[in-house]
Amino acid sequence: MEKAHLSLLEWFAKEGRHDLPWRTTTDPYRIYLSEVMLQQTQVERVVGYYERFLKRFPTLSSLAHADLDEVLALWSGLGYYKRARNLHATARICGLKLPKEYHALRKLPGIGEYTASAICSFAYHQPIAVVDTNISRVLGRLFATHTPKKVAQEFLNTSHPKKHNLALMDLGALVCKPSDPKCDRCPLHAFCQGKEDPASYTKRSSQKRQKKELHLALWIEDGQIALRRSGQRLYQGLLSLPPADPAPNPIASFRHSYTKYDITIYLHRQRPQSPIEWIRLDQLHQAPINAIVRKALTLPKLSISFANLP
Ligand code: SF4
Repeated sequence: MEKAHLSLLEWFAKEGRHDLPWRTTTDPYRIYLSEVMLQQTQVERVVGYYERFLKRFPTLSSLAHADLDEVLALWSGLGYYKRARNLHATARICGLKLPKEYHALRKLPGIGEYTASAICSFAYHQPIAVVDTNISRVLGRLFATHTPKKVAQEFLNTSHPKKHNLALMDLGALVCKPSDPKCDRCPLHAFCQGKEDPASYTKRSSQKRQKKELHLALWIEDGQIALRRSGQRLYQGLLSLPPADPAPNPIASFRHSYTKYDITIYLHRQRPQSPIEWIRLDQLHQAPINAIVRKALTLPKLSISFANLP
């Protein structure tokens, strides 16, 4: 075990992703924010959102005093908006700082097993194993097991828990990838029990996306766009394009995916029926618009430029 720990940490020192902005801080709020943003979103997409969010809300307390609409506006385009609502609710409950105890963290809105352990390990250096998708895959293959969570705590390097967790995470992202793992470059190669057949320890998504069609109205009048406050669970509180009557010759169409749906959106030039909200185009960057509005307004075909959208 000791040799494996050492080999992993040596590799991490040389190859780890040390320059990610949330890796250069020990501020629990910043680490918490990054962990929430990274759920279901790729690292490359998160960096810009993370920096913009912190510029506006540099502390937990500033987030606690914010208006939810402003929080959602900064989240716009990142998807899974429940994360933003939970973040805001947690800030309001905690006020100045996050608790240090795992069980206290778990009681906060949206903080599950993974996020609580990540905060404990990355912000507070506690000897707690963190198991995200990458780590789960590495441990599954390393110990040739289909229940990697069970071995995570036992394998934890309690002298360097934070580095150990981050190293496993990076190993999964950079070397022990879902397909075609680079076993010949792996620091755990000598210890790995699943390297002959890594694919059999890879969790596959069984979910097949359902196809859907949506017809939406894009209507701009006197420099204002007609939007609707969504009551749908996923987009609750966000501004979306109102529904349109399906008609031949839509002005544009595009694809959009979320959760289990693969949606084809058709845009129609139709004046929507009430209830709608009129949002000035020059104020749109401050409005909590959903990802579909954002995509529609940046379609090259429509020649509408929204360069200052966040
Ligand atoms: S040897 Fe291969 S399968 Fe095993 S942990 Fe390393 S990359 Fe993954």
